[in-house]
Amino acid sequence: MSNKRKVAILGATGAVGQRYIQLLQGHPWFKIEVLAASERSAGKKYKDACNWIMESNLPKEIAEMPVANADVASVEKAGDVDLVFSSLPGDLAGQVENEFASMYPVFSKASAHRMEKDVPLIIPEINADHAELIKVQQQLRGWKGFISTDPNCSTIQMAITLKPLMQYGLRQVVVNTMQALSGAGYPGVASLDIIDNVIPFISGEEDKMETEALKILGTYKGKGVKNADFQISASCNRVQVKDGHLESIFVKLDQDPSLEQIEAAFEDFKGAPQLLKLPSAPANPIIVRHEKNRPQPRFDRDAGCGMSVVVGRIRKDPIMTFKYMCLGHNTVRGAAGGGILSAELYVAKGLA
Ligand code: NAP
Repeated sequence: MSNKRKVAILGATGAVGQRYIQLLQGHPWFKIEVLAASERSAGKKYKDACNWIMESNLPKEIAEMPVANADVASVEKAGDVDLVFSSLPGDLAGQVENEFASMYPVFSKASAHRMEKDVPLIIPEINADHAELIKVQQQLRGWKGFISTDPNCSTIQMAITLKPLMQYGLRQVVVNTMQALSGAGYPGVASLDIIDNVIPFISGEEDKMETEALKILGTYKGKGVKNADFQISASCNRVQVKDGHLESIFVKLDQDPSLEQIEAAFEDFKGAPQLLKLPSAPANPIIVRHEKNRPQPRFDRDAGCGMSVVVGRIRKDPIMTFKYMCLGHNTVRGAAGGGILSAELYVAKGLA
């Protein structure tokens, strides 16, 4: 692509915003033009506004960039923008994203708009066709731009593994999560709450897993999405891991495929990003490990540059049909990497 699209990142100083900055370095299609955050950060140089927690160094040119306030007028004053990545807190994102979407394509990691009927909830490997919903949205809302949302981080990795199982008649899913600290943002959970501990509650998380997955795996019907027809029960826990959510998943199927068939279904799974050769697409959306003690966050979260979901311990279950473990990098595939992949999909489809 000769002319890179100029992007603004809303929430640029947070855990997800930082990951956007890291992953957009050298991106072939997108160039960071504006960094925006709260009034606390606006007016400061990025290096003074943010506590950089990525593994790689803060890029020099980013360090010196000014931070704008996350509103349309301030962002437009700071630079010419073609599209917007939003990683704002969920309770704030609703109104702010609406204002941007009247003018710009907005790719949101926040929960505010995910379940609205005319808003796509995208995992490009699963439901690239749902992106067409923005045409309905633009017509209904009279917008030049649009909002496309990405699911909650723990839902993304689960849904990617459920998609290839639907061919066997997916009926019920029970999932237990062990979620990393970076999933709570920065500074997130107080150290005295989590050291030597597991917290068996993450506000709103179970409801998101139980509802979002049905929309993502549902069918696009021209004017909206018909939810997938299976049940999910989720139980979510915060554990003392920096990055990478581990999930224990139990599924009930209509059919009784062999373990080899299940393993092949995971390994053969590909979607639009692989067919379209999108820049951030992993070669394998799902990687299967055969060791008895994998996947593990420390060893497997960076598989496929953090964009692959790693599955292991696939086995029959005496109550459900079978069970497995599933690991995903929550701020890469579960957040910024997923958001960038969605934007690449829209660009490739000529929608943004
Ligand atoms: P975070 O670390 O707490 O960062 C929040 C960002 O929003 C910061 O840049 C902050 O700027 C900005 N912000 C806060 N209040 C604001 C205000 N009043 N006006 C404008 N900007 C404001 O949170 P995060 O983990 O990056 O999460 C960001 C979003 O992504 C949330 O909606 C979250 O649910 C979602 N998400 C997170 C993950 C994950 O793994 N962390 C995964 C999927 C989705 P200041 O620095 O100026 O306060």
